[in-house]
Amino acid sequence: MHYMDHNATTPLDPNVWEAMLPYYQYYYANASSRHRLGMQQRDAVESARERIANVLRVEPVQIIFTSGGTEANNLFLYGASYGRMAKSIWVGAYEHPSIMEPAKTLARKEWQFKVIPGQQDGTLDLDAWQIDKTLMKDSIVSAMLVNNETGVIFDIKKLAERLENSGTCLHTDATQAIGKIPVDFEALGVDALTLSAHKCYGPKGIGALVVSKRLDIAPQIIGGGHERGRRSGTEPVPLIVGFAEAVERAEMQREAWVHHVKPLRDKLEHELKSLGAMVFAENTERVANTTYFGFDGIHGDSWVIFLDEGEFAVSSGSACSTHKSVNASSVLQAMGYQRERAETAVRISLGWATTVDAVEALLVLIKQGLTKFSKMPAMYLV
Ligand code: PMP
Repeated sequence: MHYMDHNATTPLDPNVWEAMLPYYQYYYANASSRHRLGMQQRDAVESARERIANVLRVEPVQIIFTSGGTEANNLFLYGASYGRMAKSIWVGAYEHPSIMEPAKTLARKEWQFKVIPGQQDGTLDLDAWQIDKTLMKDSIVSAMLVNNETGVIFDIKKLAERLENSGTCLHTDATQAIGKIPVDFEALGVDALTLSAHKCYGPKGIGALVVSKRLDIAPQIIGGGHERGRRSGTEPVPLIVGFAEAVERAEMQREAWVHHVKPLRDKLEHELKSLGAMVFAENTERVANTTYFGFDGIHGDSWVIFLDEGEFAVSSGSACSTHKSVNASSVLQAMGYQRERAETAVRISLGWATTVDAVEALLVLIKQGLTKFSKMPAMYLV
């Protein structure tokens, strides 16, 4: 099977696995225990925290380990809303459900919920968005750094500049950014940032919310007082060690990764267009591994099934939305596409293991698919 769904998750880097293994096999003590075995575990956790902090250019105390990106996003939205008694919540039009859903939940209480509008090229319309400084006071804003579907890179620094002195607290979801573009907390000008290990060849089930030292976050999981009281629960030491190894390696190999995946993605995209595909956010700055496209009248899910039968794993949009009944990409709809067009979307996201032979074989299969779908009954079509 050719795996081309790296934005959904990446395989575990064998080097990361090797770093984690001793913590499953031999070092099993609780990092909160006072004996020497416990202290060894504490050292492993704190040294991992320091390694991640170095990559992001923050201080270790700014990192709160969570179970992944979803929890980090929830922790920010609930934690910052309750922590600073924010009055309104603004989120980008393309946010992941782990931002959108908590924001909507808060909106059902006393918070105002607003969306920063999207536009056709897949970016946020910061110019049309009139920042009302009185409304912004004490509000929180969350906008992702890289979109999981289109791969569009957002100008978070510009957003931070717009919000300067407005009394807002700005968060960015960098889950899809780490290892793909530089992620520097201070340079972005944010107050909080989300990370997840499994999108950069690390283990599933671990991530972090990185916060500025000024930010008050009300804990959402309470009990043992772990993570300085900001997120309770016995630390999963093997996952934390794997997270640090993955983040360090992803950053170290970032340029080589771009060098590997970009020509493959560009070739794929070029050929897809010559076959008549529409590439979404084509002319917008995007991460190097992602292509998001559709063919007129053919449902994205039909492609996923067809390509799966041909041994290629791709996605028809955000994998996270497959547990829900709504299938058309909300990201594309926020860009102004009609539902019919949004339903055609297929996402291919490449990684280290992708070869030119695999891309060529995929293109042959897509050509066969076009012939097949042109003769298909309407159920296969949009
Ligand atoms: N944010 C974005 C942009 C994502 O792509 C994902 C993963 N689909 C998440 C958050 C959630 O991360 P996790 O899977 O670690 O909970």
